Amino acid sequence: MNEHDSELIRQKLINQGYIETNSEKHAEIILINTCSVRKKAEEKAIQYSRQMKNKNKTVVMLGCLAQHKGQELLSISKADIVIGTRSYEKIIDILLDFEKKGTKRAICEDLGIFQLKRRKVREGEFSSYVNIQQGCDNFCTFCVVPYTRGRETSRNAYDILEEVIELEEQGIIEITLLGQNVDSYFDGKYDFSDLLKLLEDNTKYIKRIKFTSPNPRDMTMKVIKTISNSEKLVRWIHLPLQAGSNKILRKMNRGYTKEEYIYQALTIRDLIKDVSITTDIIVGFPYETEEDFYETLDVVKNVKYDGAYMFKYSKREGTPASLFKEQVDEETKGRRLRELIENVNNYIMERRKLMLNREYEVLIEGESKKDIGYSVGKTFNNISVVVKGFFKPGTIVKGIVKEIRGHTPVLNIA
Ligand code: SAH
Ligand code: SF4
Repeated sequence: MNEHDSELIRQKLINQGYIETNSEKHAEIILINTCSVRKKAEEKAIQYSRQMKNKNKTVVMLGCLAQHKGQELLSISKADIVIGTRSYEKIIDILLDFEKKGTKRAICEDLGIFQLKRRKVREGEFSSYVNIQQGCDNFCTFCVVPYTRGRETSRNAYDILEEVIELEEQGIIEITLLGQNVDSYFDGKYDFSDLLKLLEDNTKYIKRIKFTSPNPRDMTMKVIKTISNSEKLVRWIHLPLQAGSNKILRKMNRGYTKEEYIYQALTIRDLIKDVSITTDIIVGFPYETEEDFYETLDVVKNVKYDGAYMFKYSKREGTPASLFKEQVDEETKGRRLRELIENVNNYIMERRKLMLNREYEVLIEGESKKDIGYSVGKTFNNISVVVKGFFKPGTIVKGIVKEIRGHTPVLNIA
C-alpha cells in the first residue's frame, strides 16, 4: 500500500516539475514514506530523517507514522514537513509554502479518499497496484492500521474499472487490488466478488488479477467460486492467520476460530485447482503460552503454506494489546519465531517439490538478482520461479519445472 502511495506521490511531484533522483547526495528534498505496523520500521524512519536533517536536506515524512504522530513527529524526527495518509492531495501546496516561508508543519487532515489516481504508466511497466478500499474497521487488538489509515471506505466499482481500463490501454497486463480487508469491499451495489467479475469481464488486455489482503472472517464462498471459475484471477490467496490458538485469536479480536480457519483453507485448496496459500503469523502475542504456540504450528501442519510472513509481536502504542498485562519476553518470541520459520519452511519445500516435472506459464518480472543469467517471474499461482536467459519483463513463457534451488523452482523452456 505504501509502495503504491509513493508511486502516486512521485507522479504528482513529477507533473509539477520536480525532478526525481536516486542519488541521496544530489537530492534537495527527501520524502520518507513510513510504516507503523512494527516498531523497528518506525525507528528506522525516524533515524533516517534525523540523518538527512544533519545533511541539511528538506525532509518530508509521509505514511502511517506521520498520520499517527502528527505534530509530535516534527520534533522527534526533526523533519520539516509531516503529511498524514489522507492529506497527500495537498503535498504540492505544502512544499511550495515551505520553500517560500520555511515554516515547519504537520498536516493530518482527512481530505477524502483516493484523491491521487494513478494515470501514467512508466516505460516498460506491465504490472500495477490499484486501490479498491482504504482504512480498516476491524480493530484487531495488535494492529495500528485502523488508527493510521482511518475508517474503512470502498471505492466505487466503476471508478476502479475506469482506472484499470486506462492502465491496460497503457500496457499494463497485471493488476493487484489493494485493501486491508478486501472481502468486506462494498460500494453500495457491488461486493468483492462482483467487483472481481466486473474487472474480469470488462478488461481486454489484463491477463492477471491479484488482490491483497483478504481477512478470513469475511471471505465468502462466492469469492472462492469466482476465482475457481476464472481465467484471469490468479490462483493465490493470502490468508492471514496471525495465531492458531482460539484463546489468542479471541484476544486478538480476529473474529474466527482455528477450526473455521482450517476448514476455510482446506475448502480453498479443494475448490481452486493448484491454488497457493500464503499467510501472516505473529508469535509472542500477550498471554501466548507454549501450548498456544503449538496450536499455531498445528495450523501450519494442516494447511501447509506456500509462503508466509512471520513476525514477533511488536507492542504498538495506542492499541488495546499494548496494555495487556502478560507480555511475552523477547527471548521466547525469538525462539518461537525460529521454530515457526523452520516448520513453515519444511512445508514450503514439500509444496515446491510437487511442482517438479509439471508445466507452468510464467509471467517474467525481470532479471534475477541472485541467479546471474536467469530471469525471475511468477506462475499463475503466484510462485516465484527462475528461467534461464533474459526475457522482456511482461512476457509470458511456458516450460517445465526441472529443479528446485533453495525454495525456488527452475523452469526449463523446451
Ligand atoms: N489487513 C491485514 C494485515 C495488515 S498488517 C490482515 O488483516 O491480516 C500486515 C501484517 O503485519 C499483519 O498481518 C500482521 O501479521 C503484522 N502485524 C500487524 N501488527 C503487528 C504487530 N503489532 N506486531 C507484529 N506484527 C504485526
Ligand atoms: Fe489490522 Fe488487518 Fe486487523 Fe485491519 S484486519 S485491524 S489491518 S490486522
